[in-house]
Amino acid sequence: MLSAIVFDLDGVVYLGAQGIPGVASEIERLQRTVRVLFLTNNATKSRADYARHLAKFGIMARPDDVMTASFGCASYILENYGRGKRVYVVGEQGLRDELEGEAMAEIMEDGAEFVVCGLDRQVTYGKLDAALRNLNAGATFILANSDPTIPREFGVSPGSGAIAASLICASGRQPDVVIGKPSVYLIKKLLQMHGIKAREAVFVGDRLDIDIRMANKAGMKSVLVLTGVAKKGDAKRAPKKDKPWKIIKSAAEIGNALGI
Ligand SMILES: [Mg+2]
Repeated sequence: MLSAIVFDLDGVVYLGAQGIPGVASEIERLQRTVRVLFLTNNATKSRADYARHLAKFGIMARPDDVMTASFGCASYILENYGRGKRVYVVGEQGLRDELEGEAMAEIMEDGAEFVVCGLDRQVTYGKLDAALRNLNAGATFILANSDPTIPREFGVSPGSGAIAASLICASGRQPDVVIGKPSVYLIKKLLQMHGIKAREAVFVGDRLDIDIRMANKAGMKSVLVLTGVAKKGDAKRAPKKDKPWKIIKSAAEIGNALGI
């Protein structure tokens, strides 16, 4: 029985500002028969931001249908430590919004119990300095995702992992937890929130060592699309843990591949 299809976003649903042809209409069709969910390592936007963002591509989604690393950081703190914790953030507004909303975190400069690091396109020496002070004082180090780069229309730009690398270098500490894929934290949380069993769900992604690895580890069926990072030959060469269950050209073909 198939209960849900979970889509990665960049490289699967869209490439930067460009929707991948046929995917929005395929999702609309699938939404009549199965639960359609979305999961991204991005931590710069909140789930509500993503619901609005997807609407621009003609995709209807509620904030609860979207799992992001920003929400994941907040829910991780809430589940393991409780609400109202003192947090220092290297990251953007969407991450702050989820931390303050979901975990009721108090965002502060000094005396933080947690340093949460995500992609921050306005990162400064002062922010890294404040993060380091808190880490050196013993704050728990939470990393949204370890992606070294983010895809751009032309090439790549530094990602959350690259910013964290400077904190790892300066503090001599590794993150206490990494929330994003290939960790299974986000997908487990999303399926749990919707009451869906992993074996009844399919994950559709474009990266073998991130998306497919996570899906296989979580016990889901993994489908690789060739509209993003991975090419067909990469899947052949991949180790067993990164081998997809199916390979399709584009997410526009997912219903056909699953017989729905
Ligand atoms: Mg992707």
